[in-house]
Amino acid sequence: MEWNELLIRYGELSLKGRNRNTFVRRLKKNIQLAMRDLPTVKLQAERDRMFLHASDHDDMREAIERLPSIFGIQSFSPVAKCQAELEAIKAKALDVIASVETTGKTFKVEIKRSDKSFPLVTGELQQEIGGHVLRHFPDLGVKMKKPDIQLLVDIRSDGAFLTAATYKGAGGMPVGSNGHSLLMLSGGIDSPVAGYLMMKRGVSLDAIHFASPPFTSEMAQKKVMDLAERLGTFGADIRLHIIPFTELQQAIVKQVPNNLSMTTTRRIMLEIADKVRGEIGAMGIVTGESLGQVASQTLDSMTAINAVTSTPVLRPLIASDKLEIIDIAQRIGTYDISIRPFEDCCTIFTPSNPKTKPRLEKVTHYESYFDFAPLIEEAIAKRTVINQAAKQPTDFDDLL
Ligand code: ATP
Ligand code: MG
Repeated sequence: MEWNELLIRYGELSLKGRNRNTFVRRLKKNIQLAMRDLPTVKLQAERDRMFLHASDHDDMREAIERLPSIFGIQSFSPVAKCQAELEAIKAKALDVIASVETTGKTFKVEIKRSDKSFPLVTGELQQEIGGHVLRHFPDLGVKMKKPDIQLLVDIRSDGAFLTAATYKGAGGMPVGSNGHSLLMLSGGIDSPVAGYLMMKRGVSLDAIHFASPPFTSEMAQKKVMDLAERLGTFGADIRLHIIPFTELQQAIVKQVPNNLSMTTTRRIMLEIADKVRGEIGAMGIVTGESLGQVASQTLDSMTAINAVTSTPVLRPLIASDKLEIIDIAQRIGTYDISIRPFEDCCTIFTPSNPKTKPRLEKVTHYESYFDFAPLIEEAIAKRTVINQAAKQPTDFDDLL
């Protein structure tokens, strides 16, 4: 079936007041961003729906593939166009119905007449088209309330538009409509899921990763790059900052007693993340922490770690179970990347008995014997930035 346009519905964008325009514009830019290599795709945004046109059928097919992962879309329907003339509409109705599964299904015709000058009234049209369809698809039953298939016929001045299928969108809000944050991305299962959930709430992301070569391998780094790339498909491309962390970890192990070194490691990671966040103009920091999962994720630990900054630290998984997190990871295609067997910088330096209730005064006391600041500055300066030219929704402000 060759479709002429896609009808896109906004869902949560049914927001109040002035926000609405901003959200619609943001969504339009994100769709343009996701389709930027499909030259014939054109968008036409209205207050409560958007139309995507593509004169090339390959572009249209590809657009249908990509739309389900773009946040801010509640649902979309492929639409076929024909002349606003009864015989043409009846013929097109058969094509459209043939594109969906009809065996044992119920059906109904719904007419919308945006062009009131059309000669037949709604009831007559319904009967003509419905009868025609039923003659060709004897399997179909008629049902006026909640039918399986609803054939919508919209008669506008420039033609008749027919659709019979509605696909679920990704929901949420357009990425970039709720500010920009820095995701602390390990190679684990949790942090990519945390990033995904924040994107779903409209937050665009940079990511930061701490690597400890030669204790962590090139392959561990590749894994994180693949995770960032995968996440990029849900909104906008993600820029990834890789921090060389070996010297700091060695200094920490030397200066801080074994059972508190994990706390200091996390504190320094957060401090570095916060400095990078400031440099790139991001507003929050996102982590994959989940309460009680490991020693560093108790409330006591988080209190001691979080004391290095007053920046909002967003933890979308704080109340999720591991199984729930794995479920999402599988669904969004990060799980298989996350379980590749490469060492993380923290596992290598993890003490066997980290404190689950570290006291802030103790931690700061041991840290005070060594000046970590120069090493911190050096690590930030020596960072590698992957995907430097990442196209963010904000790059498209000129399209507003
Ligand atoms: P994950 O599956 O995300 O690695 P986890 O259950 O293994 O989480 P931790 O290793 O304690 O938990 O890490 C908690 C959070 O700290 C991670 O979700 C991530 O946001 C951040 N983090 C941990 N290690 C790194 C790292 N090497 N680089 C960047 N962020 C990290
Ligand atoms: Mg981890």
